Formats: sequence, structure tokens, C-alpha cells
Amino acid sequence: MSFQQILSEVFGYAQFRGPQQAIIEHVGAGGDALVLMPTGGGKSLCYQIPAIARQQAGHGVTIVISPLIALMHDQVGALHEAGVSAAFLNSTLSGEEAYQVEQRLMRGEITLLYAAPERITTPRFLAQLDSLFERGQLSLFAIDEAHCVSQWGHDFRPEYRALTVLHERFAGVPRMALTATADDLTRADILERLQLEDARAFVSSFDRPNIRYSIVEKRDSTQQLLRFIEREHEGEAGIVYCQSRRKVEDIAQTLVDAGIKALPYHAGFDAKVRQTHQDRFLREEGIVMVATIAFGMGIDKPDVRFVAHLDMPKNIEGYYQETGRAGRDGLPAEAWMGYGLQDVVNQRRMIDESPAGEEFKQVMRGKLDALLGLAEATDCRRVRLLSYFGETYGSLPSAAGPPQSGHGPLGGQGGHEVPTVGAKCGNCDNCLHPPAVWDGTDAARKLLSTIYRIQQMSGISFGAGHLMDIVRGKTTEKVTQHAHERLSTFGIGANFTELQLRGVLRQLIAMGAVAVDAQAFNTLQLTEQSRAVLKGEVGVRLRESVSGPADKKVRRSARLGAVVKAPINLDSEGLMRYSALKAWRAQVAKEHNLPAYVIFHDATLAAIAQRAPQSLDDLQGISGIGTKKLEAYAQEVLRVVALD
Ligand code: ADP
Ligand code: ZN
Repeated sequence: MSFQQILSEVFGYAQFRGPQQAIIEHVGAGGDALVLMPTGGGKSLCYQIPAIARQQAGHGVTIVISPLIALMHDQVGALHEAGVSAAFLNSTLSGEEAYQVEQRLMRGEITLLYAAPERITTPRFLAQLDSLFERGQLSLFAIDEAHCVSQWGHDFRPEYRALTVLHERFAGVPRMALTATADDLTRADILERLQLEDARAFVSSFDRPNIRYSIVEKRDSTQQLLRFIEREHEGEAGIVYCQSRRKVEDIAQTLVDAGIKALPYHAGFDAKVRQTHQDRFLREEGIVMVATIAFGMGIDKPDVRFVAHLDMPKNIEGYYQETGRAGRDGLPAEAWMGYGLQDVVNQRRMIDESPAGEEFKQVMRGKLDALLGLAEATDCRRVRLLSYFGETYGSLPSAAGPPQSGHGPLGGQGGHEVPTVGAKCGNCDNCLHPPAVWDGTDAARKLLSTIYRIQQMSGISFGAGHLMDIVRGKTTEKVTQHAHERLSTFGIGANFTELQLRGVLRQLIAMGAVAVDAQAFNTLQLTEQSRAVLKGEVGVRLRESVSGPADKKVRRSARLGAVVKAPINLDSEGLMRYSALKAWRAQVAKEHNLPAYVIFHDATLAAIAQRAPQSLDDLQGISGIGTKKLEAYAQEVLRVVALD
């Protein structure tokens, strides 16, 4: 079969996406390749199709190396559903099961074999590969999650280093390395460590156009999250990231109390609980996983409709990686982040207090600043994100340059009244609802001189809340106690709302013009940089807070009988067919012990519901239905669609 035939007959897709075709042709013809593609870009087909074609041409088995043992069962299950012979070898198999797989491997019955890196380099497995190699039955090595070879990546696995054995021992067998990690350092490391210097590199755009990015100022972040989920993602699967284990558990409980199907996940739970929660997330519909960043690596659930950050991550790399887990199916998805003063303070403190060397800390601060810049930005978020990864969005040159360490959050706006008119993606909060910008320089100077005067008068520093009270002229108990109403700056900022002052203070901290002393109750101090702001040499500009104070409590909605949402517009009959199909799919998935999306994606079910097929012919050409699935499921699908 040609590559195109395999795509349509086995996988049921009409067209290759982006660079898939070029990659598949190159690897299919025996070339080495490095594939850099964002999460959800479609990396799997890049080795699966060459594997099938080369097997058919008599070249034997493709070995897929992946560190994600927990996912191999489902990956192999998905291939079985498509009628492809696949298997995995990892520590979850019993001795007998592993032996059966080895037997099939040696008999040449397997097209794709998934194995963990530590398995590949065992003498026993190498001997088996030797034997296949001598018979010309070793077709291709696909090294997935290849950034694991690099200590610069976020998930270094020493076992990956040993994979150089592949090209030394099996010279001439094509190898491809695949990753969604973009940065140059990691990329260079992959090439060097895996000795793929001569491989052809396929670098695709890292844009994820179906993900809508929004970053909001935190008020009552739990209520904001609840509103976000209830209003826009009712009954849908999502991930909520929190910084601490404790918060993960609290938020999960809050969501459950509000009637949302939420589960907690963090490294403090034992392996069994983690596995159960992950399985439920993958297999059940509409689960919201509340997790630390310990969750998510390699999760290829395609219908995650939102990723929410309740705490700001450390850097843009982390943020992009995590948000990238939304919408792998290409349907609309949302990345939502709340951030506030406390996030800035916490992240700064974590860097300051870390035992790392000063040089490393400087790099970390630069990365944090870039993320703050993104959060405070008034122009297109996507343009900024891509430019951070060295990519220019669309045809226009990117407005913001790559981030420099030590650069404040105002970088890129250049101090103009209106942000530079650059490219617009039309699918981020700033493009959809351009925020007003206001000049916070005056407020900033009032805050700074008050910090100065408090220090002069009392000889000690105070925290943000007290500072704000003084500037706004509130006679609190603490104010009276310290006689701070006698400060000349008492009440000079009464015309600002607390929210505005908080925003200004956040920027001052982000800029380094105010220091937070973590050792002394987060009290505020002036720094070297304060002077420039006080003297009016540096301006402070910030986005107008879009909405007023947080709404009152969210109503507790009765979730049973929640409306069915389909990925495309369906009339009421269509919706009935769609929910009937979903119920049927859940049943099949359960019987096969696989996640529902492995049977059919939502988009495929919706397309079926819309077409209302009455015969086999009517089912032809719907994306996601290959020959095998047509054979296996067409009759039942027709029966379900007839709603009898
Ligand atoms: P990655 O590994 O790059 O994150 P996957 O290989 O899991 O991405 O693919 C993401 C989703 O896109 C999968 O559900 C896959 O079935 C789908 N997909 C991949 N290629 C195509 C294509 N050419 N046409 C339609 N869907 C595709
Ligand atoms: Zn935009």
C-alpha cells in the first residue's frame, strides 16, 4: 500500500497534516530523521505509517522506544483497533506474557513493538534484535520523547544515553527521534547524544491554533475557576494545575462539592492511586484532573478541552508544555491562567531561596520575567509565545523580540501609548477583547515613596496589605497602632482602587523595583531600581482590569441531565444521535478495556451524527473510520444512529 492508502484505509484520514507526508516519505525510504512537532501535531503517524509500509515491503519490525510505560497498553490497543499488529514489552507484563510477545517478535508477526529504553539495552533483548538484524528483519527505530536524552530537557532519563548502542550495533537501520520540546539546547543535545547529526531535521510550527489563550488577574481564584468551568466547560474533560499538593487536594474537593467530576493527582499519592486516577481520566468522560505538574507527561488524551493554571508556572516552557495537553484532537480548546501578586512573590522567592548558583538563578529570573511579560501583555499572546520559541507568527515580523534575562515585563511595548500593532491571532483574550492600558507611573511613585517613608518613620518594613491601606487612607487598627496616618503620603492614592494598586505593585515587584523579604513576613523594600521609577525615568504601564470584582457565589448546578455538547453544530435530532453514539462507544470501550477515544474520536461521532447514515456507503469518507473499524463497527453504528 502507498503511504496515502495507509493513511486513509488504516487510519481513516483523508489528508496528511503539515509536514507528515515529507517525514513519512523520508523515513519510509530509510532516512534518519529528527522530528520536532508540538504536542497534538501528529507525531505518531510519522513512524506508524513508515512502519506499516516497510513491514509490507519485507523489512520487518519497527521498535518504538518510549519512557511512558503506563501509556503503552492504550497505544497498542489503538493500533489493534485500526487492524495493525502491535505489542509492547515492559515491566507490567508477566514473564509468560513477555515470552509470548518475544515469540511473536521472532516469528515476524509484529509490525510495531513498543519498549521502554531500559528494556532495549538488556543483553537478552539485544540478542533478539541481533537475530532479527542478521535476517534483515529490523526495519526502523523510533525514539519517542527524545528530549529525555538531554539533561537540559525537563525529563532527563539516563537510560536514553545508552541508546547510542542502536546505531553502533545495528548500522544502517534507520532511526528517527521525535519530541515536542523546542528549545535549541535540547535539540542540539538530542542530535549529539543520539548521534543523529546527519539526520534530516523536520521542524514544524509550534503554533496550536485551536487553543485559545487567556490570562486573567486573580481575585477569588477558586470562584473564578468554578465560573470558568461551569460557564464554558460543563461536563468536559480538563486539567487544573496547582503548585502544591495541599492545594491540589483542596481544589479537587471544592470542585467535587460544586458537582464537578474532579480527581486529585500528585506525587504524594501512592502509585496505585495515581494509576487509578489517571486511568479514570483517560477512560471516563468529562473528568477534571486537579494536579501538580507531576501529571501529564505523555498523556495523549485527545479531547482535553481545557487546561487551567491556578498558580503561575516557573517559565514559558513549562506553561506551553502544560497548556499543549489541551485540544490534541484539533477541536477548540482553552488554556486559562489566573495570576496575581502572590504568584510573582512566590516564584521570585523560590528562585532566591534555591541552593543553585547565582548564574543559574539569573537564568531562572530571566525566564520568570518572560512569563510575567506574557501575563501582563496587552498584545497578542500567541505572537508572544511563538516569538519566545524563536518563531514569527504569520507573515508579519514578530513585534516582541526574544526575551532577555533581566528584562522587565514591559519589554516589547516600548513605552508607547498603544501597544505596537503587530500580528493578531484572533484567538486569544487580548485579540478578542483588547484591554485598555493605563499609565500607572503616578501610582507607582506613590507606593514607592510610601514604602520609603514607612521605613524612615518606623525603622521596619511592612507587607503589601498594610502599604495599600496607607496609600488609600484607610484607618485600620494597624495603621493607628503605628501612627501611620501621620505619614505625609497617607491617603495620597485614595483615587485608586485597591485592585489597581495591587496591579502596580505586582509590576514593581516583577520589575525588581520592589523587593519582597521572604525571611521577614514578605515585607516590602526599595531596591536599586526603585530610584528610576521614583525619578520618573522609567514608566509603569499596565492593563486595565477588565471586569469588576468577583461575582457572588456560583450557583450549584444540577449536573445530571447536563446538556450534551457536540464539537460541531447539530440540530436536536443530531444531538440525540450523538449522545446515543457516545453511550454506545462507552460500552465498547469498556468491553475492550480502552479509552473511548481509541474507538472513535468525538469529532468522528459528531460527523456520523450529522450525516445520519443509513447504509455502509453513507459511512464512507468520514474522518477517523478506517477499513478495520468500518468492518468491526459499521453495523452497530447504523443501528445506534437509527435510534432504535
Ligand atoms: P503527538 O504525538 O504529536 O502529540 P498524536 O500522534 O497523538 O500527536 O496525534 C494527535 C491527534 O491527531 C491524534 O488523535 C491523531 O489521530 C490525530 N491525527 C494525526 N494525524 C492526523 C491526520 N493526518 N488527519 C487527521 N487526524 C490526525
Ligand atoms: Zn492573539
